[in-house]
Amino acid sequence: MKISIKIKFSIFLAVLLLATIFILGFLILRSIRLNQVDQYETYLSRQAATANAYFKQTMLSEANKVPQFFLNTQGVDFARQLELLTGQSVILYDRKGNVVSSESAQQAIKGISQTLAYALSGKTAYLAGQDDLYYLTPLTIENEQVGVIQIYYSLSAEKQFYREIKRTFAIAGSCIFVFSFLLGYFYFGFFANGIIKLELMVDRVREGHYDLPSLRRRDEIGRLSKGIQAMSHKIKATLQGMEEEQEKLKLAVNKLMLLDEQQKQFIGNVTHEFKTPLTSIKAYLDLMEMYPGDKELIDTSILTIKNETNRLYEMVYKVLQLSALEKYDFEYQPQKIEVKQQIQAILQSLRGKMSKFGITLETQLTEAYVKADKDSFILILINLLDNAIKYNKSNGKIYVRNYVDYHHVIIEIKDTGIGIPKESADRIFEPFYTVDKNRSRTSGGSSLGLSLVKKYMEKLGGSISLVHTDPNGTTFQVSFPNYPDKYPDQR
Ligand code: ADP
Repeated sequence: MKISIKIKFSIFLAVLLLATIFILGFLILRSIRLNQVDQYETYLSRQAATANAYFKQTMLSEANKVPQFFLNTQGVDFARQLELLTGQSVILYDRKGNVVSSESAQQAIKGISQTLAYALSGKTAYLAGQDDLYYLTPLTIENEQVGVIQIYYSLSAEKQFYREIKRTFAIAGSCIFVFSFLLGYFYFGFFANGIIKLELMVDRVREGHYDLPSLRRRDEIGRLSKGIQAMSHKIKATLQGMEEEQEKLKLAVNKLMLLDEQQKQFIGNVTHEFKTPLTSIKAYLDLMEMYPGDKELIDTSILTIKNETNRLYEMVYKVLQLSALEKYDFEYQPQKIEVKQQIQAILQSLRGKMSKFGITLETQLTEAYVKADKDSFILILINLLDNAIKYNKSNGKIYVRNYVDYHHVIIEIKDTGIGIPKESADRIFEPFYTVDKNRSRTSGGSSLGLSLVKKYMEKLGGSISLVHTDPNGTTFQVSFPNYPDKYPDQR
């Protein structure tokens, strides 16, 4: 059975007070008893002295001065006179221990003979019973013992008083026990409730609930509850931190696995993409060796080998650029670029290619400035415009516009080409990804353009997004940080 702390404290207090009352009572009763003994001893010794003085005085007036004779003849009367004088019942013994006063007064008192023998040897002795006391003292004359005076003393008044006091202590003890128990129960209850609440708080923390209210108390228990509250908040924060770390670790592991996967895929793609043109070159070289006289074959072979070599060169160049961007900070020379002028210059360089495919151009350019590495800026736009030409339909259109959107300069390139299927839209920025390998190949694509553009944009602090695509065309947007925003000190 679990006894509550309130009961334990209350019992402890009650028992403590009861023990105090008990010890106090014991000491008081003991001193009462000693005092009573002292009082009646003094009183009886005084009575004995009076009796002896009276005996001496009586003997002086007696004709026959032999004490034994006096006691034998007048012992009864003398005893009666002594009773009147002392107010106590008196029995007289002669030197031999025989009763010389009234025989009737002498009842059989258990143990009196021993006390008498003691008194006959010249010493005072008394025999105490339940409520009675027999005081025996030598009867002397001229320092000679002639008998013994036995004075009866009733102890009932003293005993009664003693019992009363004892009873009072017993009642007081019981009342104090009950009262102190109740008082303790309510007084300690106040503290015990606090301790019980603290225990509940600790239980809640153990169960994983960390938001606890503190107790509204100003004492140590209140402060302790605040301490528990602070500790539980700390535990919560630590656990949260650990969970977040775990989550981050999980994400990092997933990312690493993805990177690993992508790297494997990249190597696979590189191998494949490089193998194809090399196989083609090798095949045409073999054919040229086999048929050195076939002019038509040699012309076709030279053209194909030239195209494939160009493609290989382009791919090697872009792969090197990509890996340089991944691993090193490329040589970045930021400068203020006037966007409108720069776009016009790039479009001018592509006019020949556009007209070759019958593509018309529409622009809507406004004055804007970005701070970027000029080569990177050109490379980005050329790649996007080149795609807009390559994947356009015959006699298609290309729209180029730019505008300032608060902190950014946006350049939009829209074409009326074949579009990108939805399932490929997310993957076109991956290296070597191409929707249609043949089309990419025949149009001289390296499948690395958009991944390079994306990397460059990230390096320049901007972004690229495919904002729209359907079978009637595609729109890409690149967003550069506005020149004054990013470099306010160089305005
Ligand atoms: P590529 O050198 O093959 O053009 P890119 O990385 O530049 O490689 O582009 C990846 C793929 O995205 C292309 O192969 C093509 O399928 C698709 N793509 C890119 N731009 C366009 C566009 N403007 N219209 C349609 N498809 C496009």
